Amino acid sequence: MVLIQGKGVSKGVVRGPLYFFQRPNYDIPKTKVADLDAEKARVVEAREKSSAQLYVLADKCREEAGEESAVLFETHAMFCDDDDYVEAIETMLNDESCNAEYAVKEAGEQFAAMFAAMDDAYMRARSADVKDVTQRILNNLMGIAEGGIDSEEPVILCADDLAPSETLQLDKSKILGFALTAGSSNGHTAILARTMGIPAICGLGAELKETLQGRMAYLDGETGKVVLDPDNLTIQTFKDKMEKQKKFKELMAEMKGKEDVTLDGRHINVYCNIGNPDDVTAVKNNDGQGIGLFRSEFLYLAETDYPSEEKQFQAYKKVAAAMDGKRVIIRTLDIGADKQVEYFHLKKEENPAMGVRAIRICLNNPDVFRTQLRALYRASAYGKVAIMFPMITSVWEVKECKRACEKVMAELKAEGIPFNEETEIGIMIETPASIFVAPELAEEVDFFSVGTNDLTQYTLACDRQANDLGKFFDAHHPAVLRALKMAADAAHEKGKWIGICGELGADLSLLETFLAIGIDELSVSPSAVLPLRDAIRKSIAKTCTLDALKC
Ligand code: PEP
Ligand code: MG
Repeated sequence: MVLIQGKGVSKGVVRGPLYFFQRPNYDIPKTKVADLDAEKARVVEAREKSSAQLYVLADKCREEAGEESAVLFETHAMFCDDDDYVEAIETMLNDESCNAEYAVKEAGEQFAAMFAAMDDAYMRARSADVKDVTQRILNNLMGIAEGGIDSEEPVILCADDLAPSETLQLDKSKILGFALTAGSSNGHTAILARTMGIPAICGLGAELKETLQGRMAYLDGETGKVVLDPDNLTIQTFKDKMEKQKKFKELMAEMKGKEDVTLDGRHINVYCNIGNPDDVTAVKNNDGQGIGLFRSEFLYLAETDYPSEEKQFQAYKKVAAAMDGKRVIIRTLDIGADKQVEYFHLKKEENPAMGVRAIRICLNNPDVFRTQLRALYRASAYGKVAIMFPMITSVWEVKECKRACEKVMAELKAEGIPFNEETEIGIMIETPASIFVAPELAEEVDFFSVGTNDLTQYTLACDRQANDLGKFFDAHHPAVLRALKMAADAAHEKGKWIGICGELGADLSLLETFLAIGIDELSVSPSAVLPLRDAIRKSIAKTCTLDALKC
């Protein structure tokens, strides 16, 4: 029996083959080839395969996401056969006598640069389409599977860690579990795993090596164990746990439709965290009562160029409308630090977590900010949208954000575009500075939502991405809990409400403390809603003062 121990970050037991994530290498060298016709034939085959894949995607989109995305994929499919594009690849092959991959990459880059230099904004935006199509043709040439997983059956996906943009490409239906050699509980792969209800372990270290590719294993996302060649007793233990898991799911299903209310009658808003519009299905399946955090940056991470106002509007509108009048809190772009988006060309920083990230990027780039705010306000006409700003440290930042909102509302009004003038505005409390100025911040906004992942990181001076800080990264630290209480008191004093949207919100061992602090809303991954509801319904909500807070 082989046991590899890591840290469980998303509960659940699964059994399946280990599959090591292959990171595509687009650093393609030029090689001289003898058989040019063979290279040309490879290009034709890759183009045909890409075009067929894109038509399948277009059909799928037409059923699931609507006409706009479907047409986009059809346009991409047609571009695979575009005369000028095909000719550019052929010319490169003829002139350079080079490998197919190099010719496609070079021709694609030239085309993308040509579009990017055009005056017309619509044509400029086509540069991203060219890059997308070229990448697909390259993947097919290089044998890189669509969706990142070249397997018929679902697998346990193994990697060092996955960048948020990589997780977006993955075909989630093929993933039984995540087994990461690095990563951390607050990293975005772990967050994604919890959102999707996929068991996950991080910090498995060098013992999880590629020579294990294809081997059957059990993965326990609670205890952090990956086991190969289990003995009979271990097999039985896993089987019992899987049976218990099934029963627990059935029990939790009984919680659907019940109110999130404590034994003494206090109502708590139990909302969900999502990363993209498709996650709404999981929210509905788990009976979440709203969206407490829509991480809008995932829309930007999925693109190779700035997403247009229309594209963003469609995504926000989809979520707002699907939630049927329930609150949908959309956080404005929060990139930087671990979420890097190439086309923003962010400068390399020594300490990116403390650099130009989140709201700082928006305030430094008014056009990017304005585009997102326009899309958000337009979506507010289709549901109960609230706008939330991340990583706030100062009152002036909030005032500037509000001024940007006012400007956008005035524009939309002048253009006769409908929007909700009463759209709530909130901020994330995730820096120590925001705790100290919470009374002033509370005057400016409708609500606070505490990002405990970052608040813990900044309060304890502990990198949330590092998995070797162990006991030093302690989200239960009295400093974090007292900070929460100070923010809650400041909000309530001004008649505002406060929620938690960091991962700590789902920590049932702290529920009593959150109730004592006076937290009004908990936003958790969809899979955590029903266990949280169950716990709330068994609790008494006794609030206390800061001095009396047990921590
Ligand atoms: C947080 O910091 O707790 C949070 C919810 O935001 P993110 O994890 O996206 O930084
Ligand atoms: Mg954060």
